[in-house]
Amino acid sequence: MHGYIHSIETMALHDGPGIRFAVFFQGCGLRCIYCHNPDTWQFSKENTVSAEDLYAKTLRYRSYMENSSGGVTCTGGEPLMQPEFLLKYLRLCRDGGLHTAIDTSGVGLGAYEEILEVTDLVLLDVKAVSADGFQQLTGVPMAKAEPFYRALANSGTSVRIRHVLVPGVNDSDENIEKLQKFIQRFPAVEQVELLAYHTLGVSKYEHMKRPYPFEGVEPLSKERLKYFQSFFD
Ligand code: SF4
Repeated sequence: MHGYIHSIETMALHDGPGIRFAVFFQGCGLRCIYCHNPDTWQFSKENTVSAEDLYAKTLRYRSYMENSSGGVTCTGGEPLMQPEFLLKYLRLCRDGGLHTAIDTSGVGLGAYEEILEVTDLVLLDVKAVSADGFQQLTGVPMAKAEPFYRALANSGTSVRIRHVLVPGVNDSDENIEKLQKFIQRFPAVEQVELLAYHTLGVSKYEHMKRPYPFEGVEPLSKERLKYFQSFFD
């Protein structure tokens, strides 16, 4: 069995603790309106790899990971869209003593309990905290994330929450209070990181000849971000 991989970053610094070997999976079931990786949405056979080969490649960076208390992060796209491959790769990493993380929106194709058993840390991208907001932002119902949320809550796996704030959409006290309530269901939240909506993906949309849905929306200011982050510090 092979996995569809978009790319690999061997020295990632923002996808979990320490230096990470970040694997960007192809495929995503969501269509977030500000997605900055729309080039990962579709599966293409261009870049396929077996879990064993990927693990062998991972091991070349073992010393960087170990010396920095880092590890492996599966991101995307959406790693949960290739559950069998993900599980196999994470198992190899876990058995090899590497710290494992997945960066996910929670909308995938199942095997969540098994995956969480071999995952040390979940970077949970909370798209929206209301059903309406989720649907508008991602194009799919929030109910699709519920099975993963449930498995995560039951697993007790460490969680870092990520939430993008978009000016005029969800940069309000009310939204932040809802987020505080929402994340209470996960028993092991160790960090909440609010991210400012940015426009870095715009050129990719131009390249793909897709209209950019947030045309004209300015990035969130540093001051506003700091203010909202203070709710969690
Ligand atoms: S979950 Fe991530 S990759 Fe998928 S559409 Fe949303 S932002 Fe893009």
